[in-house]
Amino acid sequence: MDVSYVKINDVTKKLQGQIVLNKIDLHLEKGNIYGIQGKNGSGKTMLLRLICGLIVPTEGSVEVAGKKLDSKNSFPESVGILIEYPGFLPQYTGFKNLQLLAAIRKRIDDRRIREVLEIVGLDPNDRRKYRKYSLGMRQRLGIAQAIMEDPDLLLLDEPTNALDTDAVENMRSLLLRMKQEGKTIVIASHDREELEKLSDEKIIIERGTIVGRQRSEEFKKAGVTL
Ligand code: ADP
Repeated sequence: MDVSYVKINDVTKKLQGQIVLNKIDLHLEKGNIYGIQGKNGSGKTMLLRLICGLIVPTEGSVEVAGKKLDSKNSFPESVGILIEYPGFLPQYTGFKNLQLLAAIRKRIDDRRIREVLEIVGLDPNDRRKYRKYSLGMRQRLGIAQAIMEDPDLLLLDEPTNALDTDAVENMRSLLLRMKQEGKTIVIASHDREELEKLSDEKIIIERGTIVGRQRSEEFKKAGVTL
């Protein structure tokens, strides 16, 4: 029996007559970190959008945690996403922004918000408004909102963008901890080295097509000989 957490079955996605994802077949297992590697415009973000139901396939199907995504079930139950800039409101503090998002699902209390802010290295008592945040602080807040519900599936698009070395280290250990807890994590990045540090498997995408998959044993070995 195939127990994959995410199943993308022969998906093609067309947007405005353009094929942006081409015959994608991809099954992802629980407790693994997957790295989607590809140049700008290759379809990484589209693939993440597909997994969380933000776009629907033109052909094929997507299943997450045993449930097919369709118009009735468009957003999987337990998923955290960081795709482009989350819609934070500039006139509020980071804390207030997370409170507003948490209110939508009513599952998170202020204690958890303080906790996730601390996890990503932001001060929960910082009175500065989001509009005064640096790019790196914005990215940290984006990661905080993605993890605050402790999701089983975490989708991160270019998560190390604008982060300094300490924050990158911090994020790496956070993701490894989540993996050990059995979460499924998908990271899209153009940065091969960064992906190779974390991924159990790399999925290489070019012009909307998966052109290669590599397990960490393979790319770690390749790294030594190159
Ligand atoms: P990546 O995340 O790898 O940089 P994307 O997934 O954002 O790439 O984009 C994949 C392709 O889809 C690009 O060629 C882009 O031009 C195209 N694309 C993105 N949005 C649309 C849209 N709304 N209509 C048509 N094509 C689009």
